[in-house]
Amino acid sequence: AGLPPRISDIPRRWAERAPHAPALREGERVWTYGELAAAVDATAQRLRELGVRPGDRLMVVAENCVAQIALIFAAASMDAWAVNANSRLSAREIAQFREHSGARRVIYCCGSAAGAATAASPEAAAHGERDGAQRESWLFGEWMIGPLNEAAQPEPVAAGADFSARQPAALIYTTGTTGQSKGVMLSHRNLLFVAAVSSTLRGLTPADRAYGVLPISHVYGLASVMLGTLYAGACLHLQPRFNADALLRALREDQLTILQGVPAMYARLLEILGQPGAGAGADGAARRETLGASLRFIYAGGSPLDPVLKRQAEALLGQPLHNGYGMTESSPTISQTRLDAPRGDTSVGYAIPGVETRIVPAQDATGELWVRGPNVMLGYYKEPSLTAAAIDADGWLNTGDVARQDADGALFIVGRSKELIIRSGFNVYPLEVETVLNAHPAVAQSAVVGRTVAGGDEEVIAYVELDPRHAGQPEVLEGELHAHLAAALAPYKCPAEIIPMPSLPAAATGKILKSQLRTLAQQAAQTKETKQ
Ligand code: ATP
Ligand code: MG
Repeated sequence: AGLPPRISDIPRRWAERAPHAPALREGERVWTYGELAAAVDATAQRLRELGVRPGDRLMVVAENCVAQIALIFAAASMDAWAVNANSRLSAREIAQFREHSGARRVIYCCGSAAGAATAASPEAAAHGERDGAQRESWLFGEWMIGPLNEAAQPEPVAAGADFSARQPAALIYTTGTTGQSKGVMLSHRNLLFVAAVSSTLRGLTPADRAYGVLPISHVYGLASVMLGTLYAGACLHLQPRFNADALLRALREDQLTILQGVPAMYARLLEILGQPGAGAGADGAARRETLGASLRFIYAGGSPLDPVLKRQAEALLGQPLHNGYGMTESSPTISQTRLDAPRGDTSVGYAIPGVETRIVPAQDATGELWVRGPNVMLGYYKEPSLTAAAIDADGWLNTGDVARQDADGALFIVGRSKELIIRSGFNVYPLEVETVLNAHPAVAQSAVVGRTVAGGDEEVIAYVELDPRHAGQPEVLEGELHAHLAAALAPYKCPAEIIPMPSLPAAATGKILKSQLRTLAQQAAQTKETKQ
């Protein structure tokens, strides 16, 4: 109720109500709602000239910038689907998404009018050159236009009263944490619903200034941050890539009120500023003092929030760090903590209004989490059997995550069912082991995976990224970490091996790519066996 039919109606409506209000800020350049709406119309016109038709997929390769946002809205306004890809993906991934989506055109956003320092993306330009794209100056700076894919056929466009609920606005590929990434079709209604709920739950007003660093190519950055902010008529400060210094500058100079991030972002901020009370020096203390002054809501989501990290980030920014949970398939928000009732633990909060959750099997406190509501995707593109396996006949989506719920309904994520390691018949959830490892001062990040051994049993393998300030002798440290784990966990949960890595493989959202680590662990075991 009250939601417009298309996501592109968001800037259009605000352009009518408050044309001079700031919508986007890119470097020093501010785009008002009036300017944004006009840019969306001009972009749609350009896309038509480029042969993009209703039902076509338009692939947008970018890091957060005004051009990308205008392309997403322009595609939506003409009933085409935006296929969002981050410039930092590999050439192989870009090609894979382009092929799978059957994109009619690919546009690479490679330079911003706001200046080279703010939003130039050399990666996007390199992808564009590889694909034979033509450089063109446009309203926002430079972009590159890929060749017309003559073979691409438009998909049927939804008609009738349920247009908004049936017409895809975006095709977004999942992170690929557990394996191959899947193309998720999200309708206008999916995205508008999450934008409206996010904006309401945060109590956003046109006076708010939100930091826009989470990749808009992913659904968290698209629906919760970008659309959520614009839905309220607030201003989004675009940052193409996370950089702790840029965030510090924005906090000091731009009077940001809303900060949404992933746990890895808060970890980086703490690394730069030193942990409060850890003797970070007078400079660090002075920088910290003014840091959180204008902020009124800080939030993490997208991967598990570590309890130690949560406490330290709260001390640094002087306020509670909210937690939210979701997945690409649910646009993404499923639950979040309440603005008026922050939590001291790492609960992911309560199901958002309008969304139902249930834990299966119901008689146990812990089980697989299912979700139903207007946030649930249309399906996986070109994968009807995968879709049928994920969503049942009554519209319930299996998240594949294991959760528990306390007496008053607060949800806790225990781990992913796919990641469950079965060690001599006992269940080991990697998240529990990672939480213990992360609590050790020498560990910056960790990832625990299972390795199949002879006879089909699994063993627990831990990969750790060490904190350079605490890393001692590798052998000493390894012994210390094993002892630290043994003191906190049952023996079957303790890793057989702890393997240090200079940095863990991660997606643009900071999420650790565990499928790569699982392959690595398995290969290492095979090499060992063949050597023996
Ligand atoms: P793929 O489905 O391709 O393997 P992925 O599941 O990592 O990749 P996303 O849709 O980006 O792709 O991530 C959703 C998952 O992230 C959830 O299923 C959940 O496991 C995890 N997650 C998200 N938010 C939280 C949170 N606040 N706490 C714990 N886990 C979270
Ligand atoms: Mg997933």
